[in-house]
Amino acid sequence: MRIFGQMENQGHEQVVFVQDSDAGLTAIVAIHNTVLGPALGGTRLYPYATEEQALRDVMELSRGMTYKAAAAGLPLGGGKAVIIGDPLKNKSERLFRTFGEFVQRMNGLFYTGEDVGTDTSDMDIVRRATRFVGGVSPEHGGAGDPSPVTAYGVLQGMRACAAERWGRDSLEGRRVAVQGLGKVGWALTELLQQANATVIGCDANPERREQAYRQLGIQTVDTDEMYDVPADIFAPCAMGGSISQHTLPRLTCEVIAGSANNQIAGADVPRAILERGILYAPDYVINAGGLINVYVELHGYDRTRALALTREIYSRLRKVFAVAQELGIPPSVAADRIVEQRLAQGRRERTSNGASAADVSGNPATSIAGVVAQPH
Ligand code: NAD
Repeated sequence: MRIFGQMENQGHEQVVFVQDSDAGLTAIVAIHNTVLGPALGGTRLYPYATEEQALRDVMELSRGMTYKAAAAGLPLGGGKAVIIGDPLKNKSERLFRTFGEFVQRMNGLFYTGEDVGTDTSDMDIVRRATRFVGGVSPEHGGAGDPSPVTAYGVLQGMRACAAERWGRDSLEGRRVAVQGLGKVGWALTELLQQANATVIGCDANPERREQAYRQLGIQTVDTDEMYDVPADIFAPCAMGGSISQHTLPRLTCEVIAGSANNQIAGADVPRAILERGILYAPDYVINAGGLINVYVELHGYDRTRALALTREIYSRLRKVFAVAQELGIPPSVAADRIVEQRLAQGRRERTSNGASAADVSGNPATSIAGVVAQPH
């Protein structure tokens, strides 16, 4: 593995390998960029087949977090942690507590929260060892599951798409195909129903699909049929990579807007979406509600503030569409340019002030340059 080469290619600042055999902890923390603030990113617990896979995942995900935080206008950088293990077999109090002690020793350079394979109860354990964690349950002073706020942000993004494409931001009467009826997809369906849109849903889990049919009263289809469903908006809310050269020709929608991370599979797909006349809401711009929620939680949670900041996704997307239109580029490329400008500006300010990033509470960083986290 050429780790330094990979770090240089993707612009990572630091990668830390963590090992504690007694606690069953094998983890990697990637700090991608702290120009705008300390790195924030969830902790994923996943049974990676190889260490290379785990490393690749944490590096890509941490880079994505830099872009998501910058696009949301937050004073945060990008990071991510992966713990190698099986969520069904390897969870233990000792594991999360030891991981929390490690996060504590990073001393505010890295803030974490839940992700695939971890949940609020795991973060409650991490919280016992460190204050640098969000996604903690309300009983322990946290904001709980961020998914409803993510769904709320996706709804704001859909309204921005409607305004862009159809000239008014009402979703009334629109048909929305929601792919994945998990935590976000379910909450989004409820919000869409309140906005008088019609939802057609699918889920890989037949029980979840049946539950949605009964409790939400929506039409559901097989996962394979989802791309052919007549709809105004296609909302990818399951796993990444669902928009590809294979699935795109099947879509009948005019807008793609959903919560999934890394929705697009293939470098030529953004241009192909544009050429098909479909408006695409870049994933990391529209799905930032959960990150915003955790950011607010770290200051002492205030739901009203979290929702107000999340509503800004509407105007942020309109700006992305305006830049895309002006330059004749896909919205995903426009979003990247806006972020890269913000990072370049941050870098210039950091160089001219000689200052390091402020921590999330607005205080000077806890000696970011001086923190050298030692693995167990
Ligand atoms: P989740 O695990 O609760 O739900 C995902 C659902 O998708 C599950 O019900 C699963 O059965 C279903 N699914 C998996 N593959 C499918 C397929 N091929 N077709 C249809 N359904 C399929 O996850 P979630 O928290 O709802 O997150 C959904 C997506 O949004 C993920 O990509 C996640 O990374 C992203 N996201 C979530 C949040 C958040 O706050 N939860 C924030 C930002 C991004």
